[in-house]
Amino acid sequence: MNKKRIAIIGAGIGGMTTAVALSQKGIDISIFEQAPALSEVGAGLTVTPNATKGLMYLNLGEEIAKVGMAHEKQGVRHYKTGDMIVPLHRGKKMLEQYGAYQFQLHRADIHDVLVNELKKNAPDSIYVNHQLSAIKESSESVELKFTNGEKNEFDFVIGADGNRSTVRNIILGDDEPEFAGYVAWRGLVPTKELSEDDFDECGSSAFISPGRVFARYLVRNGDIYNYVGFLSTDEWAEEGWSIPSKVETILDVFSDYNQQVKNIIAATPKDQCYKWGIFTRKPTHKWSTDKVTLLGDAAHPVEPFMGQGASTAIEDAVVIGRVIEDSSTPNEIIKRYENARIERAHFITEHSKKAGQRFTGANPDKYTKEDHKNEEELGLFNYDPGSVIV
Ligand SMILES: Cc1cc2nc3c(=O)[nH]c(=O)nc-3n(C[C@H](O)[C@H](O)[C@H](O)COP(=O)(O)OP(=O)(O)OC[C@H]3O[C@@H](n4cnc5c(N)ncnc54)[C@H](O)[C@@H]3O)c2cc1C
Repeated sequence: MNKKRIAIIGAGIGGMTTAVALSQKGIDISIFEQAPALSEVGAGLTVTPNATKGLMYLNLGEEIAKVGMAHEKQGVRHYKTGDMIVPLHRGKKMLEQYGAYQFQLHRADIHDVLVNELKKNAPDSIYVNHQLSAIKESSESVELKFTNGEKNEFDFVIGADGNRSTVRNIILGDDEPEFAGYVAWRGLVPTKELSEDDFDECGSSAFISPGRVFARYLVRNGDIYNYVGFLSTDEWAEEGWSIPSKVETILDVFSDYNQQVKNIIAATPKDQCYKWGIFTRKPTHKWSTDKVTLLGDAAHPVEPFMGQGASTAIEDAVVIGRVIEDSSTPNEIIKRYENARIERAHFITEHSKKAGQRFTGANPDKYTKEDHKNEEELGLFNYDPGSVIV
């Protein structure tokens, strides 16, 4: 298959990592993005060791280390007192135990690393302003149609077009994403606006309370606090990642939280405060047709409580790159890719949901280290997409 033409739909972190993985192997790819320019939303992101190993496989370990922060300490903390309930050790311990760091970074920075790498290997492979609208699959090829009127033919197509995937709708025709019962607010806060009391030795913390979680960590050499606050609720009607919100609304939701959290929220630049609803889909045991498959959020959107959304998309991308490199038919790609990935993706989906229920459902006074069965405790960091059997 490495002489064939492959299309990737969507240039988010999943699609871009796939494009890098395939282009490094000399495979002929085209990546189509609906937006007028390649970019990422303003927010932070966690890359856990399982995904860092994938980026190292792509020789991007050093570049990621330049833009990421590997905090030594992480923890689950009490919303009111700020007391540590479950201390977690990251930093060097990750390297020693799992062979790779955990990084926290700005989404735009990891996206830039991927874009720069792709431009080195396949500068003419990127098509912006290309929104996929239709797919016609025949025994010979796959024809793609875009809303700008263009048509193109390929041998194999990968849908990395996110949670509201057009590719998925066309090939699986299954239900729309379902509201998972959480509204989230996010902000990037310049730390120069804050006082010394708003920092502590725990670089990354999740403050838990009944019905809410507030997570914050430093990115860009500590110049910015990234935060995301979740509220468990039955109601949500709006769509999109970037719906403007008001700082006062978030302050109201977290009004009984400790002063550090409230200071961070209050320092959010007024025009950079956003909310979105968390949507997922029921896990499916089929991600593909004969010549079209799915990857990242298009295949398996996860609730964000174990920080695995981007990490699993990176795992998918590295695995599909390896599979395509030495498969001879689309059928072989699909069999090997689905065998390697579906079970793990479902495991992460299921446990991300449980993590959210534990964080928001528990009385923080009763939450213990034994209750905490998240990404590390479940063994997710042991996975290496660059060497797992595929
Ligand atoms: C603000 C924000 C905060 C997040 N926070 C977390 C977090 O804390 N923890 C976590 O685990 N996950 C988080 N996520 C989710 C995580 O980032 C994703 O799971 C991960 O990046 C994988 O994304 P993806 O590449 O599969 O899809 P996406 O990042 O959604 O990328 C899809 C791309 O496809 C493009 N596209 C869509 N439709 C079409 C079409 N028809 N034609 C062409 N292009 C198309 C889109 O424009 C987009 O560029 C967050 C996401 C956002 C946006």
